[in-house]
Amino acid sequence: MVTRRPNIVIAISIVLAGAILAITVWVLAQMRDDALRRAQDSVFNVSLLVERDVSRNLEIYDLSLRAVVDGLNQPGVLDLPPAIRQMVLFDSSASAKDMGSIFVLDPAGNVIFDSQSTPPRQLNLAERDYFQVQRDSPHVGLYVSHPFMPKVTGKDVSIALSRRISRPDGSFGGVVVGTMRLTYFRRLFAGMNLGAGGSMALMLSDGTMLMRRPYDPKVIGRSLAGTANYTRFLLQPSGDFFGTAAIDGVERWYAFRHIDMYPMILDVALSTHDIYVQWRHRAWIFGTLIAALDAAIIALAILFSQQLRQRRAAEEELRVLASTDGLTGLNNRRTFEEHAEEEWRRAQRNEWPLSMLLIDVDTFKGFNDLYGHSAGDDALIAVARCIGQSVRRPGDTAARYGGEEFAVLLPETDEAGAACIAEKIRAAVQALELRHVASSHHVLTISIGIACTRSQRFATSRALVNAADEALYEAKDAGRNRVLCYPAAARADRRSDVVSPAG
Ligand code: GH3
Ligand code: MG
Ligand code: MG
Repeated sequence: MVTRRPNIVIAISIVLAGAILAITVWVLAQMRDDALRRAQDSVFNVSLLVERDVSRNLEIYDLSLRAVVDGLNQPGVLDLPPAIRQMVLFDSSASAKDMGSIFVLDPAGNVIFDSQSTPPRQLNLAERDYFQVQRDSPHVGLYVSHPFMPKVTGKDVSIALSRRISRPDGSFGGVVVGTMRLTYFRRLFAGMNLGAGGSMALMLSDGTMLMRRPYDPKVIGRSLAGTANYTRFLLQPSGDFFGTAAIDGVERWYAFRHIDMYPMILDVALSTHDIYVQWRHRAWIFGTLIAALDAAIIALAILFSQQLRQRRAAEEELRVLASTDGLTGLNNRRTFEEHAEEEWRRAQRNEWPLSMLLIDVDTFKGFNDLYGHSAGDDALIAVARCIGQSVRRPGDTAARYGGEEFAVLLPETDEAGAACIAEKIRAAVQALELRHVASSHHVLTISIGIACTRSQRFATSRALVNAADEALYEAKDAGRNRVLCYPAAARADRRSDVVSPAG
């Protein structure tokens, strides 16, 4: 199968290469998905970790503020000596790193108690949002301020957490406020592994940026309200998505969550580039190797199919050489006999007529003697051409039977048809007008004996050949250059049997 159709080798190799390619694409797609999944897990975990840390610290700080509010409501606290009062109002947790001062402000915004100084520093904070919000709305609870530069130190941008002090009658009694340096978030963010293009941001629920990694002091306090990412942050308590940062235009995978109980949103993101950088590197190597492998498979298949084709051509050449006659190009006797046997059986089976012509060049010995062996060869080639040109039907077989004898097999042809073809051949040879002075016809001629299964029953194909030979012998006897049908012997004396009497 394969040896007969070399192109099938190439087709198989292309299918194989395609299958390898398809598997590779599938594996690479899986690897890409895995890379994204790992990134998703990673940003999710980091966001959870940071959210827990932030909310725990805010809670501790808030507890400190509540303790101050509660302390102020305790009867007698205000009458304590200042040093004792400090200890009662401000617990030590509030003095943790990055936590600023806790102030108690009177209804006019003046600092009346200061966790870090007795007597308190002389400050009025009435214009700060954390004061005004608490003053104007009684039920805010804990308020987280916008970033500001503290008046006391004048450095380290901070936010403040404030709680309202309500008098027993519900009226505004001032504010407890604790400041928190944004460096706390900066340090927290810096401790997370996010890759070169990663980012983290903490913002107030209204979109005001509190801290961002990579750190840029210019973006602190900037509002992200209206940006695509911020809009998505507002849709759910937590989630993730592919987005492009409004600040730096980098595409990233985002995980965001609203900080539990506090008006803040945290987002953690890995850049798409970082997520896929390793995958891309592997895909290149993998893809190149597979492409090379595929190319090699197809190249080998092409090579192999070429070899097959060459072998087929060589075999075909050998077959032709083995089946044809070297001088005339007609079939040789062995091939002719194979065909004859086959056609004989087919004719028997189908009850078709089968005709056989035996052709012999007249007085050819004399021609050779007169004009030389080489001219004799040329004459044989010319006679063969005459035969070939007259025998054109697909099933017909012409052959050089031996020496200067030729044979023609005509399946599905009756005696009349065979005689017609034989006469055509005879006339064609005569028309060559190859000079033959020793012949009584003066040119080279042939004699043809015909035998047909229709006119006589023959036991074997051999018998048919013998009959044609007999007819040929009769034709020779009758003066050559003629066509004679078997049984000729019985009617040799009747001119009507001579299909084509010598002219
Ligand atoms: P006829 O058939 O008319 O009775 O006479 P003939 O001279 O043809 O008879 P014969 O069969 O005795 O001679 C055949 C000659 O054909 C003998 C041989 O020299 C010649 N011959 C056979 N094969 C070849 C060949 O391949 N080339 C050449 N040049 N001559 C050949
Ligand atoms: Mg002969
Ligand atoms: Mg002869």
